[in-house]
Amino acid sequence: MDFRIKNHRLRAGTSNVKFVASPNVGGELKPRFLVIHYTASGPDADIARYFAQENANVSAHLVMRRDGSLTQCVPFNVVAWHAGKSQWIGTNGTRYAGLNDQAIGIEIENWGALNKSIDGWITWTGAVVDGSKVIEARHKFGTPAGGWEVFNPAQVEAAIAAARAICTEYAIEDIVGHDDIAPGRKSDPGPAWDMDVFKARVRGEADNGNATMVVRTSSGLNIRCGPGATFGLLRPAPLPDGTKVVVHEAQGRWCYVSVLDKAENPDFSGWVHGDWLFEG
Ligand SMILES: [Zn+2]
Repeated sequence: MDFRIKNHRLRAGTSNVKFVASPNVGGELKPRFLVIHYTASGPDADIARYFAQENANVSAHLVMRRDGSLTQCVPFNVVAWHAGKSQWIGTNGTRYAGLNDQAIGIEIENWGALNKSIDGWITWTGAVVDGSKVIEARHKFGTPAGGWEVFNPAQVEAAIAAARAICTEYAIEDIVGHDDIAPGRKSDPGPAWDMDVFKARVRGEADNGNATMVVRTSSGLNIRCGPGATFGLLRPAPLPDGTKVVVHEAQGRWCYVSVLDKAENPDFSGWVHGDWLFEG
């Protein structure tokens, strides 16, 4: 998948992606940051259409559906209303408040935080989400652990491709989550979005210097959200024998790894016990 930007519109091949204009915009934007959001919505809600309503009072530059398809709602050189009260420090040490004036926003369709009930994992609207689409994890700025809808691989790949195009066209200093710029107030994109892997892939950085290892255990290796057996499972199914991982750091005998997909790209990251990792 390849995108590029022409006249501040995202293009796939020779045509712009679908555009549904939002009236909820400010003045000129010189993008310095890219902010990742989730929509906290289900498959029936059309968030781009919602942003087209004046009384919504919110917008974002891009909205991504669960299948990875993108709609642009605001040109990239115009301020959209996605960040709210927020702040971030740029690479030159400048403190920016109110990131709408500095940042492109991508809204990714996802329920976000889920609550456990006798029916399974439920959304803020009371809808039930299939357990296979949920990870249990603690938010880096919140407690305790809860459920989070996983992002579809199609969404991750499309977001990487769109972010690459944005970083090629504009001088983007940093890619951040809404939770990074509004900690405590916002939880998106949350622990189901692997920001480290996302940023590395957008910047095209290889995992140079980090060892690639192979999982060797016939029963599979559990991957957890922290360095110990008391931490919740990141994925319900263990990593199968033969899975390739890149080791980033170790705490005692626990290793923080990125799990590689079939194309040997980082897929998701978590903690595994190092006794079952061997050189490939
Ligand atoms: Zn947000």
